Amino acid sequence: MSVTSYLGLGSNLENPLEQLHSALKALAEVPGIRLERVSSFYRNPPMGPQSQPDYVNAVAELSVDLQPEALLDALQQIENEHGRVRRGERWGPRTLDLDILLYGEEFIETARLSIPHPGMAKRPFVLKPLLEIAPNLVVPGLGSVENLLEECDSFWLEIIDGERPDAD
Ligand code: ATP
Ligand code: MG
Ligand code: MG
Repeated sequence: MSVTSYLGLGSNLENPLEQLHSALKALAEVPGIRLERVSSFYRNPPMGPQSQPDYVNAVAELSVDLQPEALLDALQQIENEHGRVRRGERWGPRTLDLDILLYGEEFIETARLSIPHPGMAKRPFVLKPLLEIAPNLVVPGLGSVENLLEECDSFWLEIIDGERPDAD
């Protein structure tokens, strides 16, 4: 049985648009992952340290035949292939970040995984693209994406014209 999972994608180094397009292509090639929908790409200011370039963010809906940890393994491999370097700085600049937002309606709390992703409910750069591709989605335990977005502080997000990728 496939599970519907949502991913957050982000990049702010080495041509972020290309990083996201390339990441989506790599995701679609993983056995056990089907890319069902992809949001527009959004440009937005960095979270955390401000002395870094703006981010490009998007979300994707997947159908997966992988267990959550195996999905994380696949995502981390794709991050590594895209030159992700971990320097220990929280929310520092990166070529590619792939986060599991939701895995079906499951709550997961392990050494490697927190699902639903603990940051998602307060991040407009996740909620806005999520609302675009899943307008009726409810985050288990937290409520509708629509309400969560309304509760966010004011934010600046810009759709990048012409960059809506095809899911297939
Ligand atoms: P944030 O998670 O706040 O967006 P980040 O994406 O920059 O921060 P990373 O450096 O990409 O954080 O990941 C740190 C660790 O988070 C990973 O090694 C992974 O084991 C763990 N992690 C926990 N929950 C998740 C999740 N839902 N999706 C992806 N990684 C997760
Ligand atoms: Mg992240
Ligand atoms: Mg991450």
